[in-house]
Amino acid sequence: MRRLALITAFFMLAACSNGQGPQKTSSIVPTAKVDGARIMAADQEPGNWMTYGRTYGEGHFSPLDQITIDNAKNLGLAWYFDIPNARGLEVTPIVVDGVMYTTGFYNVLYALDAKTGQMIWKYDPEVRRDWGRYSCCGVVNRGPAVWKGKVYEGTLDGRLIAVDAKTGKLAWETQTTDPKKPLSITGAPRIIHGKVIIGSSGGEFGVRGYIAAYDAETGKQVWRFYTVPGDPSKPFENKAMEMAAKTWKGGDWWKHGGGGTVWDSMSYDPELNLLYFGTGNGNEWARKLRSPGGGDNLFLTSIVAINPDTGKYVWHYQEVPADQWDYDAAQQIILADLQIDGKPRKVLMQAAKDGYFYVLDRTNGQFISATPFVKTTWNTGIDPKTGRPTISKSALYGSKEASVVWPGPFGAHDWQSMSFDPTSGLVYFSAQDQGYAYSFDPNWKHKKMQWNLAQNPDAKTPPDAAQITYRGYLYAWDPIAGKPVWKVEYKDMWNGGVLATAGNIVAQGTADGRFIVYRADDGKKLWETQAQTGVMAGPISYMADGEQYIAVAAGWGGSVPLIGGGLTPVHSGYNRILVYKVGGKAKLPPMLAPAAIPQQPKPNATKEEVAKGGVLYNQYCANCHGSGAISGGMIPDLRHLRHEAHQAFNSIVLNGTLARYGMAPFGDVLKRDDVQAIHAYILQRAWDTMDQK
Ligand code: CA
Repeated sequence: MRRLALITAFFMLAACSNGQGPQKTSSIVPTAKVDGARIMAADQEPGNWMTYGRTYGEGHFSPLDQITIDNAKNLGLAWYFDIPNARGLEVTPIVVDGVMYTTGFYNVLYALDAKTGQMIWKYDPEVRRDWGRYSCCGVVNRGPAVWKGKVYEGTLDGRLIAVDAKTGKLAWETQTTDPKKPLSITGAPRIIHGKVIIGSSGGEFGVRGYIAAYDAETGKQVWRFYTVPGDPSKPFENKAMEMAAKTWKGGDWWKHGGGGTVWDSMSYDPELNLLYFGTGNGNEWARKLRSPGGGDNLFLTSIVAINPDTGKYVWHYQEVPADQWDYDAAQQIILADLQIDGKPRKVLMQAAKDGYFYVLDRTNGQFISATPFVKTTWNTGIDPKTGRPTISKSALYGSKEASVVWPGPFGAHDWQSMSFDPTSGLVYFSAQDQGYAYSFDPNWKHKKMQWNLAQNPDAKTPPDAAQITYRGYLYAWDPIAGKPVWKVEYKDMWNGGVLATAGNIVAQGTADGRFIVYRADDGKKLWETQAQTGVMAGPISYMADGEQYIAVAAGWGGSVPLIGGGLTPVHSGYNRILVYKVGGKAKLPPMLAPAAIPQQPKPNATKEEVAKGGVLYNQYCANCHGSGAISGGMIPDLRHLRHEAHQAFNSIVLNGTLARYGMAPFGDVLKRDDVQAIHAYILQRAWDTMDQK
């Protein structure tokens, strides 16, 4: 028992308490009285942030102007709220009438007093802790939604839940996914005409993507729109699927899904009554494996417009035909009215994972422009009429030798929110440069409930793989001219989402643990503070009692630190909502000193066993514990295991001794000697990287 307790203590990260000292009860009663009319008139009450992007057009822009270029230097911490068990925060909180609603560790939902940070209630949906194994990019969530007295969120294990805003008690819950499939929800719901709209993730595992609407009062499904065709022996669900099926040829993608998940962005134009969303990559990544006869594989990596009342298809634009590079088009979609070639156009804009900034006519999906904002090598040009790219020969990777393609699967821009200032017409977003050596395993057999990227670890590494670098940027982008007005370069990638405000400021957290305010028109740095951990989420701004606040969720995690490990800074220990105002006087407690790293036992396995362990580690462990056994920090670094964990290694990995802390058992896919080989690989990595000899 004592041994287990020690291991448990090791696996749990520092448990934190709320930083406000002894808690008084807040007198505020949350009402969450939000409806479509109120969201459509959001600019009339800029002190609230009532939906994910503040408006249905998802501009992530605040019209508040109390915080300006002149007083930003006097910003300080107003309050902070600790979220225990730091596994990463991607949430954009909602603020309505003095109450902040946010999600935290494994979908725990909180209502906080927006002025003081005092907790009003919390609701724990008790998400299956081992479900992290069936989700690609961390046990994270991008936020709640509110509507007519209820607070909604999608859970990692695929439920949509509604909680009474006053009491914090469950109103209803609906399992939106098949629990026998590796589907999960990390995105924030949007609510249109009384329907809660949500998709799911799972494209790296092999699932059939879809988006669906549920009645906000009852949780009953109203419609479901699939993004890729299903079993060809069955009738098509609709005309759109009949059209899409013509672009899939051969193969048995439909047996495990094909991909195209709708895992993040949505935006809505009330006038056109169109809902826009982005779809994810195909599965497996290589088209040869999923659709060997060729074809564009609709609607992978596309922006699709549908009617939000019926789920009926209206138009689509496929950014990357037959995507083979994990270029999910799931990034934020901003709606705006721009003057293009002297004509007013209703556009939508996306800074996509594939490295291009797209501008489309949102009335009909017509292509307007696409401009690269980082190094891109996957195409040789985009037809200015049709918007169809010509794929580079060098990007069409094989199985024997890998090909380096830019961007790589971490993407040029991911879910991190971008901000559009309608006055200046500029879009502010976080970007990153990085390439990847792609190859495919021609003998890949689909693995149920597991990662199915089907890359070939035995492929020869090309010489240009040594030139791959990883770098981050903040852009102020002119979407009409298709070029940056200014940019900030960061040493690291995976920086935070961006907020611009009418005070001519831009706020962003960084991978290296800072929170920074820039001047919006020229990029001059006005103020920065230490966040004590990496920040990936996007900030919001709101008013409480006549004062303007800027809030951001600080907490390191997500795909890059989880899978990439040492490719980014390592942070651990803190997940917090940080809230700033002019003259704020609160202080974060000093950071805890990192725990001493125990001396590791000397490796004594054979080269062959270590090599076998490395292959198994990459398939089953690296996606959370980091490639090369270097952790990004929010998951235990296996090179630092204590004696007790080494002793219990088999039972942790095979039997799930620590499943309740999120370490799922792998006894269904690994045998005892496999685990021994993985253990040998980790020990070797500890010695190779820690200089402990
Ligand atoms: Ca993906």
